[in-house]
This record gives sequence, structure tokens and C-alpha cells, in this order.
Amino acid sequence: MDPTSSPRLRFAPSPTGYFHVGGARTALYNWALARRLGGRFVLRIEDTDEARNRPEWTEGIIDALAWIGISTDDPVFEGPYFQSSLAGEHVAAAERLHAAGHAYYCDLTGEQVQERAKASGRPGYDGYSRDRGLGSGPGRVLRFRVPDGVTVVDDLVRGRVEFDNANIEDFVLLRGNGSPMFLVANAVDDMAMGITHVVRAEEHLPNAPKQQMLWEALGGEPPVWAHVPVLVNEQRKKLSKRRDKVALEQYRAEGFLPDAMVNYLMTLGWAPAGDTEIVPWERIEAEFRLEDVNHSPAFFDVKKLRAFNEEYIRMRTPEEFLAEADPWLPAEWDRATFARIAPLVQERAKTMADVAPMVDFLFLPDPEVDEAAWTKIMGADWAAGLLADVRAAYAELAGTDRWRAEVLKSTLEAVGERYGQKPGKAQAPLRVAVTGRTIGPPLYESLELLGAEETGRRVASALDRVGVS
Ligand code: GLU
Repeated sequence: MDPTSSPRLRFAPSPTGYFHVGGARTALYNWALARRLGGRFVLRIEDTDEARNRPEWTEGIIDALAWIGISTDDPVFEGPYFQSSLAGEHVAAAERLHAAGHAYYCDLTGEQVQERAKASGRPGYDGYSRDRGLGSGPGRVLRFRVPDGVTVVDDLVRGRVEFDNANIEDFVLLRGNGSPMFLVANAVDDMAMGITHVVRAEEHLPNAPKQQMLWEALGGEPPVWAHVPVLVNEQRKKLSKRRDKVALEQYRAEGFLPDAMVNYLMTLGWAPAGDTEIVPWERIEAEFRLEDVNHSPAFFDVKKLRAFNEEYIRMRTPEEFLAEADPWLPAEWDRATFARIAPLVQERAKTMADVAPMVDFLFLPDPEVDEAAWTKIMGADWAAGLLADVRAAYAELAGTDRWRAEVLKSTLEAVGERYGQKPGKAQAPLRVAVTGRTIGPPLYESLELLGAEETGRRVASALDRVGVS
């Protein structure tokens, strides 16, 4: 087939209640291609497993897609369609296959099939009812008559994959109760929706020869196939909900930026030209090709994702960063104060969730104290004395134009020297007294912003706590 004629790609998730990062990558691959090829991206919700299907799950899928830039408002987007609404088509197609001799009914129970396999020593269904000419009836399954020969799946990622039909049993199209199996529903939907490219997870590769046979038997021209490699964790094990953090929603809640996530997902097994993988979506869309996707499993490296995220946080303009941070800050925190410290936070935050805890000491009258750090730092025999001297020295700066970061710094360092402490160590009691923590944005800029009065109050209350007044 001509893959350039009005390409139609699709993303066909089965709702699960959360959105797997692997699903997000598959959706993005389809999206990038649909856009570059001037085609359509069809969203089809494979909702036929009723036990696993709730309306809010579909909303979750649409919301997650929108977060990674795949919006229902985009003209390239089509759907959502629901597999369940085409159930009649699935049955009709299976019946057509029967009428044309491509399928036959079988009355063996599952147990009987197994017994026969055991007795013959050959696994799977042995074609027992192929020539028995049975009609439909309760409990009878409809099976596809797999032809002899070889089925070749031309896969854009995996290359030419040959399947010996002798190893493919006559698979079930309709169950004993007449309901269609996944394989039929999925292939019939793809045909009905005019899908030209099936880009999906590698785990579906064994389905491809069967579906290709269905397309051919139903008179269609099979799609272009592309099965994209699984995502694995550090131990090279397939990412799983039990072992790994796989829900896109969770990364979102932890303050990952959508464009960082998108860029990272697109570089799992594929890389843009040049020596950096950090590239804007426009370039990804222009350059992404399935033929260039590596076919070995891709390591979903959360550390690398974090590095991408940091990079994206740094790349925001100051205004963008403020806007990005806004929803992460309590409404009552003064935005003008935040704006003054924001550039220092932007340089340090790894995720947007880091932002509020980094600056909360500026807004909360009594910031939470990291007790372990407090005990360690204030336990040093010089700490209380140093802090008391700093209080005195800082009191002199209060109310003058010298309450400035560089003066606060040199003042502290001078006191530190008297106690034989290097700057890094000398500032620790002051930091923990004022911010409650050992890490955060640069201390003296923070103190300048906090003001002499509030700084003094906190140092005094810290001294109180250690019994110095
Ligand atoms: N519903 C299937 C899944 O979520 C996808 C099938 C396909 O893409 O063909 O795994």
C-alpha cells in the first residue's frame, strides 16, 4: 500500500484507570507521524471488557493525552470512538468469514481441546472441526481457518518477520456465547476506521499475523505495521505497575513538565540528529521515523527523565517559570516575594514539586524544622555562640541600607572566622535557625528578602531553644 495516501493512525488503549508511560510513548509516536504525514490520529477506546471499563477512565485517558500535547481540539485528532459501539460489526465480519469458508464452528469445550492436545503431544487446537460442517449453536465457537504457508509481517521497526502458519492454531473469532474476541474486534475496527498504520506495543506482534490474515480474508489491504519495543527498568525487566512507577499521572503530580516528559519518551529507542537529545517538539515531529527506532528494549531511566526535567525548568523564561510555579504555591503566599526569589529556585528545582518546600520559610511564620539536622548542627559546641554573635552583628545592620546579601555574607564569615569555622560550616546554624533546613536557595539572598526583623526573630527563637538568651 502507499503509506503516503491520507495516512490514518490510531491509539487504541484498553482503559485501566491509569495511563502507562509506555502507552504515552505509543500515543506520541502515532501523533508525531499523523502530524508529519498530514494524516489523522484516531483515538479508539477498547472498552469491550466491561469489568475493566468506567467512563471516568476514558476521561483520564483524554486528560493524560491533552497533558502531553495530544488535544481533542487539534484538527488532526479524531474520536474518541468506542470499540463496544461497533460490536455488531465485529460479529457481522466474523459471520462473513464463515459464509466465505474462512471460518468454521466447533463444539469442543476448552477441556476437550486440551485433552486432545495432550493425547497428541501437539499444543493448541488441532483443527478437529475443520471439515465437519457444523452450523452455529449455543456453546459453539467460531474459529478462523488458518491457511497453509507462511505469513510475512513487514514491520517498520522489526523488519521482515516470518510466521510459519503451521504454528498458528485456528484461532477463535466468536466465543461460545457469540461474543467477539479481541483479535477480531481490533482488526475489524482498524479496517472500519481506514487505519493505514498500526503502531503499537511489541507485545502485540504475535497478533499481527493473525490480524493480517483477517484483513486479507475480509478483502482489505493490511496496514503498515510497527511494533515498538517494550520499556524496561534498571534490571531490564518489563516495566510493571507493581514494581515500577509507571503512571503518567504520578509523574505529573510530582511536578514533571509535560514537554520534558514528551521529549524524554520520544528518545526512548530513538534520537534526533545532532549531539543533544533535548529538542523541541517541532524538531521531533519533523525528524521522527519508525525506521530509526531501535528494536531492543528501551530502559525507562527515571534519573535521566529527571535530568531532562531540570533542563526544561531552566529553559523556561522567568515569566514562564512564574506561571508554571503558580499552581504549586499556596494561594496566600505573596507572589511578589516569590518573584524575587524565583530565579534562584529555577536554577535549583528538579521538579515543580520542589519549589514550594524550597521557599516556604519565606512565607510561613514558623517553618517546619528538620529535627535531625537541627540536632546535628546545633549540637556543635561552637554553634550557639556563633549564632549569638551573628544576632548581635546583624542587629547593627537592621534598619540600614546594609541589609544586603553580600554584607550579610561577609558579616557571617567574619564571625565564623572567630570560631575557626570555614564559611560553609559557619552558615549552617544560621540556615537551620531561619529556614529549618540544611538545603535551599542561597542563604544570604533569602535573608535579604526575609528582612532584618523576621531574621532576627527566628535567630532569637533558635537561641531560646538552645538555652541562650
Ligand atoms: N487495546 C490494546 C492495548 O491497550 C491495543 C491494541 C492495539 O494497539 O492494536 O494493549
